[in-house]
Amino acid sequence: MELWYTENHSEEVRFSIKINKQVYSGQSNFQRIDIFDTNEFGKIFTLDGLIMVTEKDEFIYHDMIVHVPMATNPDIKKVLVIGAGDGGTVRELTRYKTIERIDMVEIDRQVVEVCLEHFKQTSCALNDKRVNLYFEDGIKFVSQKSNEYDLIIVDSTDPIGPGEGLFTRQFYSDCFAALNENGILVNQHESPYYDMYAKAMKRAHKRIEEIFPISKVYQVHIPTYSSGHWLFGFASKKYDPVKDLDANAWNNLGLETKYYNTDLHIGSFALPNYVMDMLNRDC
Ligand code: SAM
Repeated sequence: MELWYTENHSEEVRFSIKINKQVYSGQSNFQRIDIFDTNEFGKIFTLDGLIMVTEKDEFIYHDMIVHVPMATNPDIKKVLVIGAGDGGTVRELTRYKTIERIDMVEIDRQVVEVCLEHFKQTSCALNDKRVNLYFEDGIKFVSQKSNEYDLIIVDSTDPIGPGEGLFTRQFYSDCFAALNENGILVNQHESPYYDMYAKAMKRAHKRIEEIFPISKVYQVHIPTYSSGHWLFGFASKKYDPVKDLDANAWNNLGLETKYYNTDLHIGSFALPNYVMDMLNRDC
């Protein structure tokens, strides 16, 4: 007998992975949580039937959501992470000795508990003493902060369910207020390829662009995400991610990374024409 995990990448396209067994299944107050064991991707972690993280390709997402802002401003000391319950973003951040405080706000405690037990590859640094874990809504949390963080990373689910409010104009303007004058906001920015994701991506970009003086988009290839072509948003009050990159400074840190390097950092901001068209067009 063969068991397959299948997810819709669009209404007309499906993506399947052969699975060995189901490791965990549960329903939290917010979402359905599943973990499967597979040969190709190792363990895979899904929320409401959408892949969040796999052991094989999580390094791509976590390298690019963390090292791009950290290489742009090596002086980042106070970081707010919203969502990110699997722990991969915090794992990469804790590799920087210069970071003093990481506040992580995850709405669903059960996601963190399940990952601490079954997804140690990503959750292994959540007990670092610089990390403060808050189990509450990131939207409310950020609205109560002012002029506090050097970097906010929004490592969220898609704009449906509990993640919906993390794509609104109000939320982005609360992030702007929570950042100090050096502040950088990086968010997972959906995919440009299939319509449903592209609409969310364009909307998010337009809203961020209205609030931040610098607003750029960079791309990654993540095999298990819809279409494989995924984007991150980089918005900031003063840092330009390409012009202000000090490649030597980052390379001198000696951090080993499997995906990120400073040439790729620059190259990831070069976008295909169809994506540039989408970002410039009103939506
Ligand atoms: N890398 C992933 C991706 O893009 O597919 C995201 C992973 S992470 C597990 C997303 C987390 O965001 C989930 O654990 C979810 O519970 C959390 N989340 C969603 N809405 C939230 C909110 N309003 N406040 C805080 N956390 C939220």
